[in-house]
Amino acid sequence: MYRLKATKEFWAGDVIFSEASIAAVVFDSLAERICHSCFRRQEKLQRCGQCKFAHYCDRTCQRAGWAEHKLECSAIKAYGKVPNENIRVVARIMWRLDKEGSTVSDMQLTTLDELEDHIADMPEDDLKELKVDIHNFLDYWPHNSKQHTIDDISHIFGVINCNGFSVSDQRGLQAVGVGLFPNLCLVNHDCWPNCTVILNHGNQSAVNTMFHSQRRIELRALGKIAEGEELTVAYVDFLNLSEERQRLLKTQYFFDCTCEHCKNRIKDDIKIGGREEDGVKPSEEQVKEATDYCFQMLEKMEKARLNGDYHEVVKICRECIEKTEPVLADTHIYLLRMWSTMSEVQAYLQYFDDAADYARKMVEGYMKLYHPNNAALGMAAMRAGVTHWQAGQIEVGHGMICKAYAILMITHGPTHPITKDLDAMRIQTEMELRMFKQNEYVYHSMREAALKNKPMTMMHEPKSVEEGIKNLFHRRK
Ligand SMILES: [Zn+2]
Ligand SMILES: [Zn+2]
Ligand SMILES: [Zn+2]
Repeated sequence: MYRLKATKEFWAGDVIFSEASIAAVVFDSLAERICHSCFRRQEKLQRCGQCKFAHYCDRTCQRAGWAEHKLECSAIKAYGKVPNENIRVVARIMWRLDKEGSTVSDMQLTTLDELEDHIADMPEDDLKELKVDIHNFLDYWPHNSKQHTIDDISHIFGVINCNGFSVSDQRGLQAVGVGLFPNLCLVNHDCWPNCTVILNHGNQSAVNTMFHSQRRIELRALGKIAEGEELTVAYVDFLNLSEERQRLLKTQYFFDCTCEHCKNRIKDDIKIGGREEDGVKPSEEQVKEATDYCFQMLEKMEKARLNGDYHEVVKICRECIEKTEPVLADTHIYLLRMWSTMSEVQAYLQYFDDAADYARKMVEGYMKLYHPNNAALGMAAMRAGVTHWQAGQIEVGHGMICKAYAILMITHGPTHPITKDLDAMRIQTEMELRMFKQNEYVYHSMREAALKNKPMTMMHEPKSVEEGIKNLFHRRK
């Protein structure tokens, strides 16, 4: 096993390294909605005239993506259909390696040959799928491209299966593709890591192409890291109980997590515990009953949410919250999911006061559980800040947005579009807060006008897209 260590001291927000992908592809399901070059979500995309499959923001993105797409484009035309995302990314990797050799940059610390593929650990069903993929790959792979052995091909499939990084859209809300970043593969997991990884979509909009930058990931320090300390990221969300995290890591990444937080089951008790009030605690029996009930209601709620029946979602959440809130701790992970969903859906339905109350409970719970610089905490604080602003609770709203901004400055950096948005919100809410303190009447009339313009709208449909990015690496489905 590799251990990547800090060669010098780092501080919160430092970029330890950044790297471009060897290859990345947009998911099959989003092929027409996400640019195949910069991975931004865009209303109107232009189609590649040759294969009619690849989509781009504009000619600039198309040109930037041509080196990656050229061989794929003619292969798709010859094949007569589009192979699935796993096959597409493996083919892109192999074309790249055939052209440039096993190290595609000077910075690359290892070759793909040396990376684990864990094919020997794969369960029977996954192996069957792998066989089908390899079979289709061989049909798709052009005769005039360099030919490889089945072992070499399946190795790359295996590497992607355990190291394929989830590429998110520019809002960071949804996983939209999968890519391979060679050095990132070497960063081990810790449930309480000292680094985070973020995708920077780069900039191809500058007039002068000299200022264009590539899509790349950045490994950023979450706090002070001493020289010689191992660098780690979290492959799974800390909000899971340690047993669940260990199970996920074992089935998806084939190792047993023995990190401090798993070994000592840190915070498990409050994630699943009862509410203590004036020294009085509910009985274990009561807590278990409420936990089980909450779990059932979550399943019911998810179904309603997937069906887009948001009034039903609200009904289920409200019923569950009323029943379990008096019993369960304000850090109980099921209750947190109820609050989170409730705030999201109520904001979507424009019941901002209600949405703000639940969003605040969610953030306060997260603050007791997450690392203070966790990106998910920052995103939650941003959502809560916007919701409070929408509800006219400018003081709390501004505070939350400042909190989110402070976290995202570390996890995303000052040039990331979300951080830039937050900065604009921070300035706007600060101005409004000042106005509110001077003259409430003027503030309220101004706010009404601002709401009509919806400059801070975040009202995407609450279809649980955030869940998609909580796993760092993409899993085949
Ligand atoms: Zn683009
Ligand atoms: Zn094409
Ligand atoms: Zn762990």
